[in-house]
Amino acid sequence: MLDHPKDMAPIETFTGNCGLDQEEPLLFEIGRENMTGVDMEEPAPVAARLGALERKERIGLPGLSEPEAMRHYVRLSRKNYSIDAGLYPLGSCTMKHNPRLAEKMARLAGFADIHPLQPQSTAQGALLLMEELSHWLLELTHMSAVALSPKAGAHGELCGLMTIKTAIQMRGEAESRKVVLIPQSAHGTNPASAALLGFEVRAIPAGEDGVVHLDAVAAAVGPDVAAIMLTNPNTCGLFERDVVEIARLVHEAGGYFYCDGANFNAIAGVARPGGMGVDAMHLNLHKTFSTPHGGGGPGAGPVVLSARLAPFAPLPFVIRDGERLRLVEHAEGTQSFGRMTAFHGQMGMFVRALAYILSHGSDGLAQASRDAVLSANYVRASLRDVMTQPFGDRPCMHEVLFDDAWLKGTSVTTLDFAKAMIDEGYHPMTIYFPLVAHGAMLIEPTESESKQSLDQFIATLRSLAESALQGDSRRFASAPRYAPRRRLDETAAARKPVLRWSGTKG
Ligand SMILES: *Cc1c(COP(=O)(O)O)cnc(C)c1O
Repeated sequence: MLDHPKDMAPIETFTGNCGLDQEEPLLFEIGRENMTGVDMEEPAPVAARLGALERKERIGLPGLSEPEAMRHYVRLSRKNYSIDAGLYPLGSCTMKHNPRLAEKMARLAGFADIHPLQPQSTAQGALLLMEELSHWLLELTHMSAVALSPKAGAHGELCGLMTIKTAIQMRGEAESRKVVLIPQSAHGTNPASAALLGFEVRAIPAGEDGVVHLDAVAAAVGPDVAAIMLTNPNTCGLFERDVVEIARLVHEAGGYFYCDGANFNAIAGVARPGGMGVDAMHLNLHKTFSTPHGGGGPGAGPVVLSARLAPFAPLPFVIRDGERLRLVEHAEGTQSFGRMTAFHGQMGMFVRALAYILSHGSDGLAQASRDAVLSANYVRASLRDVMTQPFGDRPCMHEVLFDDAWLKGTSVTTLDFAKAMIDEGYHPMTIYFPLVAHGAMLIEPTESESKQSLDQFIATLRSLAESALQGDSRRFASAPRYAPRRRLDETAAARKPVLRWSGTKG
């Protein structure tokens, strides 16, 4: 609790600093052109050999001393909220603890310093690790083949759909099967991936209980359907109860079942997608198998495939060649559709994922999934008397979805509520997604949090919720008050981004 009077607004400081959290301008604003952090001798004059192409003006890069450069990046890094700083309830993103053991393994020189162009005979350990990781991903999913190279969930979707597209071309149905069925609750990357490959998207409405109903699929499926993309558990945090029957309907119509497996962290070690009729599914290693992600950090989205799709898997893949392991790099003699990336994917992520899988073991992975589900339900059950759930009061999987029905009649919106959480020291939950819930608030606590930590989070949300319901708009209208930046014009930032420094501030 703050010990200054509650109505005291934060003061505007002379420096712009907020306590020991320092304001930090752009490099261009603090740098000087004639400053440098290293002493270098003037180079001897050289004759220009670029014809008329050499630069005439000054290059205009900011120069800083070494301590200035150091402070710039340290200060920026301190504005970056992270899972190592606190609870990070961003639904759909699975921000969970990255065990230091996995980090340590990823830093072993033999993995960290490996180069994709070094001779395969010198990289046998890395290939063995890829083979071992593939084995466990297939074991956990009960599928036939895995493509390791996609570098994110969305990239995995693209890979899976390219595999499906190739299979359909091989069947001679490329012209007649152009539709991909996608439920309205899907992650935006699903329709984007389908559209990128020239498929036409046909939306399937979610039922009143938040899951896809058989009759809706039956009404949409037909001989023009290439595939369905279904997320399970879905983005409302609910298990698609009819998944096996949905797969059967789509298969009967000659289509494939792409499962968005981004939420595999809710079922890993407990349920196997291979038994649900899945043909292709990406796994977000950076969500389920805990590697650092967000803010553009590296991800990895391996795609597991059914026996029907396995022949079309992308290059490269690891095979056994006598005693040795070999990366198959060329499509000749295979039906592979080609490559997703220049090389073989994210080695560092593979190391972390395998370390995570082996250190947990089969019982530990199942426990992590169960604990993630338990945490989400604990939050749900603890707040359901104040906040409302769009699809009724029933258990969820790894994330709990609230809507804004409970805020009706107050002046507080979902956005205000999220901003007020920042003042309380919490990164907000995912808001306004999925689109099927009005004013959605999607909370994914993950298995990382202790009961104490969850209790404090719940008590904070309850306190905010009660303020909102009592008409105390002060905590919300001007929130966040304690963040380095206050309310941003997010629409303008997205529509008219300023991406180039123009020499003047603002
Ligand atoms: C995170 C997520 C994706 C996309 O994964 P990226 O690695 O961010 O590309 C796709 N679908 C769902 C359901 C997700 O949660």
